[in-house]
Amino acid sequence: MTPLEALHKYFGYTEFRHQQGAIVQQILNGGDALVLMPTGGGKSLCYQLPAVLMDGLTVVISPLIALMKDQVDALNINGIPAAFLNSSLNANEQQSIISRLKSGEIKLLYLAPERLFGSENRLVTFLKTLNVSLIAIDEAHCISHWGHDFRPEYLMLSSFKTEFPKTPVIALTATADDLTRKDIREKLALHQPKEFVSSFNRPNISYKVSPKKDSYNQLLNFLDDHQEDSGIIYCLSRQSTEDLAADLQKQGYAAKAYHAGLDNETKAHNQDQFLRDEIKIMVATIAFGMGINKSNVRYVIHHDLPKNIEGYYQETGRAGRDGLPSEALLFFSAGDAFKLQRFARVEGNEDQSRIMLKKLDDMVKYCQLQTCRRQYLMHYFNEQFPDHCGSCDVCLTEFKKFDGTVIAQKALSAVYRLNQRFGTNYVIDFLRGSKSEKIRDEHKQLKTYGIGADLSKAEWQRYMGQLAIQGYLVVTDDQYPILKLTATSEAVLKGLQKVEFNLAEDLETAATETQPT
Ligand code: ADP
Ligand code: ZN
Repeated sequence: MTPLEALHKYFGYTEFRHQQGAIVQQILNGGDALVLMPTGGGKSLCYQLPAVLMDGLTVVISPLIALMKDQVDALNINGIPAAFLNSSLNANEQQSIISRLKSGEIKLLYLAPERLFGSENRLVTFLKTLNVSLIAIDEAHCISHWGHDFRPEYLMLSSFKTEFPKTPVIALTATADDLTRKDIREKLALHQPKEFVSSFNRPNISYKVSPKKDSYNQLLNFLDDHQEDSGIIYCLSRQSTEDLAADLQKQGYAAKAYHAGLDNETKAHNQDQFLRDEIKIMVATIAFGMGINKSNVRYVIHHDLPKNIEGYYQETGRAGRDGLPSEALLFFSAGDAFKLQRFARVEGNEDQSRIMLKKLDDMVKYCQLQTCRRQYLMHYFNEQFPDHCGSCDVCLTEFKKFDGTVIAQKALSAVYRLNQRFGTNYVIDFLRGSKSEKIRDEHKQLKTYGIGADLSKAEWQRYMGQLAIQGYLVVTDDQYPILKLTATSEAVLKGLQKVEFNLAEDLETAATETQPT
C-alpha cells in the first residue's frame, strides 16, 4: 500500500496537508524528523500513517494522559489497533494490553514519559523485547527549559536514542523558536533530523490588542457581540479565573473556571462541558488548552499579558481550528508588564532571567506595534511575511502618516555622534539635553546634545521604536542593548531618504508642532 492509499483507506482523506507526505516518506526511509506545524495542522497523521505502513509497533509519547483515550478510540474506530498505558487503567486492563503487545496485535501504543523510564516499572525494558519501528514524541517542546511548557519528565526521553539506536524518532510540536528547536534536537539526540516547518500563519484568526483600561466592561462589550460563540479567556492567576467566571455567570453567561489548582474531577467536568458546548466560556489559566481539540472556538481573549510570544501564539491558535473567522484579543497594560518582569527574574540564574526578560520584551513590543501584528508574529517564528495582512487591528486602522525625516535625522545623528555605543535611554536623554550626571561631560559638549528637547521622552521612545521597525536602527542583543545604525540610515542622514512615521493620536499635537507641514 502506498502512503496515499493508506491515507485514503484509514483516514478517508484525499490529499496530504502541509508537508505530511514528505514527513511520512522521511520516516519510511528510516530517518529522524523534527516537525513544526501549527495547532490543527495535522501532526498526528505524520506518525499514525507510518505506523500502519510499517511492521511492528509505534510508541507515541504524549504528556496528555487525559487525551490518550480519545486518540486511541479514534484510531480503533478507523480500524487501526491502538492502546494506551497509563494510571487510569487497572492491573487487569494493563495486563491485557501487555499480552496484546506481545502478540504484535497493537500498532500504536500511547504512553506518558514518566511511565517509560519510571524506576519501579521500566517499561522500556519490556518495549525492547518488542519490534519497535517508530518512536513519536508529541509536544516535543516540553523538553526545553526555554519553551513555555517545560516538563522535567521529558528530559528522561533523552535516553531513547541509546535504548533504540536504530529506530527512527519523530518529534512534533506546534511551537518552537530557534532556541527551543535546537534544544529538542540536542536533548533527544536526533540523528541528522530533517526539519519540516510548515507555515505558522493562521489566516482565519484576526489579532487585536486593546489598552487595558476598564477591562471588565471592555470584556462585556466584546461578549455582547459573541453571545452564541465559544471562547477562552486567559487570566494570569487562578483566583482571577474564578472571580471572573463568577462575575460572568452573574451576567448570565455560561462560563466556568479552569486552573491547575482545581481537583481533577472538577477540571475534567468543566472541560467536558466546554467541549460539549454546555458552557460557552472557559475562563482559564494557561493550564487549560494543550491538546484540546475543539474546532469551533471563536475567540481567545488574553485578559492579562502573556509571558512570551510562543505561549501567546499557542493559546490564540486554539481559536478557529475549523477554519472559520475567529478573533484573538489581548488587553495590554504596562502594569502587567512590570508584574511579569518581577516574575521573570530567576534568583541565581542570570542566563535564564535574561532570556525570560527578552521574551517578555518581545511580547511587550508586539502589544505596542504600529505595524502589522501578523507580520511580527511570523517574523518571530522566522517566517517571511508581507507587511500588511489586512486583518489585524493595525492593518485595519488608517494611520495618518507624517514626514518624520527631521526627527529621524536628529535621532540617527545622535546615535552616530555617540559612536553607536549607547542604549535607547541614554540616546534619548542626550537628545533631550538632560542635565543628569549620567550624561558624560564630553557628550554635553557635542552639537547634537539637546537638539531633541522639543519632544518628550515617551515620544522619543515611540519614534525610536518606529525607526527600528523601519530598519533605520538596530538594537543589539547584548546584555546592555545598544543602538546601532544600519546600511539605510546613511541615506537619511545625508538627506537622500525621507522617513514617514505613523501619527499616534496622543502624539498629534506634539508632532504638528515639530513638523508644521
Ligand atoms: P495537530 O495535532 O497538529 O493539532 P491534528 O493531528 O489533531 O492536528 O489534526 C487536526 C485536524 O486535521 C484533525 O481533525 C485531522 O483529522 C485533520 N487532518 C489531518 N490531516 C489531514 C488531511 N491530510 N486532510 C484533511 N484533514 C486532515
Ligand atoms: Zn496585519
